[in-house]
Amino acid sequence: MSLALQIRDLHASVGSVEILRGVDLDIGFGEVHAVMGPNGSGKSTLCHVLTGKDGYEVSGSALLDGTEVLGLEVDERARLGLLQAFQYPVEIPGVKLSELLREAAEEWGADPEATLTRARELAERLGATEFLDRSVNDDLSGGEKKRSEILQMAVLRPKAALLDEIDSGLDIDAVREVAAAVEEMRGPDLGVLLITHYSRILRYLRADRIHVMMDGRIVCSGGPELADELEAEGYEGLRERLGLQPEPTPSERRPSDFFTDTPFDF
Ligand code: ADP
Ligand code: MG
Repeated sequence: MSLALQIRDLHASVGSVEILRGVDLDIGFGEVHAVMGPNGSGKSTLCHVLTGKDGYEVSGSALLDGTEVLGLEVDERARLGLLQAFQYPVEIPGVKLSELLREAAEEWGADPEATLTRARELAERLGATEFLDRSVNDDLSGGEKKRSEILQMAVLRPKAALLDEIDSGLDIDAVREVAAAVEEMRGPDLGVLLITHYSRILRYLRADRIHVMMDGRIVCSGGPELADELEAEGYEGLRERLGLQPEPTPSERRPSDFFTDTPFDF
């Protein structure tokens, strides 16, 4: 049986700066995997490369339910069922979320009425009913925006959901609500990649596997207990325990091209 996401030897660079340096990851259907790591380790880049954002040179493989997505256009990947929720959701004043979902359904060739019925059911479960008749993300608190994003995703029934720091900037009650929304979305037809800087959200959300990314690689994977270990020893403690040399950040690596004396083209 194919996996929701199967990533093999994924590399990504911008100019001569290598950001992802060989990522392997298997996320089965029904599973939630968390990728944790210090700032600048390549977590957001992983999401960008999977969704097909421009500007990266990419090699390796990323199978979505058995279909290679690298090289496809952004909207093709989305139609195949790969969706990302954003760290900073955009606001669309004047457009109701229900209207947006109706248009998205039409665009995707789904029945708009059935989609809206499903949206109302899901919204009730996510405690997000009132968002449907308000402008998209307009005047919503941080936590409400994230729940609204999860609702938008869940309505479109992705096969793989990429959640990049959906817990950032939230107070503790909002983190708990967002975690509950992710648990609500969990299901046998979906694999979730949850990216987080802090282990806080993992107190309220059961991740099947936790992976630590450093310097563009997954350096360590484990069960939910890995979050507690990280909390205790910190990323630097883990780096020492694994005997990893601190790598220069890509911006530090950047000026090293003294042979050509050519400024890098970003
Ligand atoms: P994280 O999400 O783990 O904090 P990112 O994936 O955003 O990390 O970034 C990883 C590293 O790659 C950072 O050092 C960042 O400065 C660098 N980087 C990301 N995107 C670009 C880009 N388009 N051009 C140059 N450097 C980039
Ligand atoms: Mg990031």
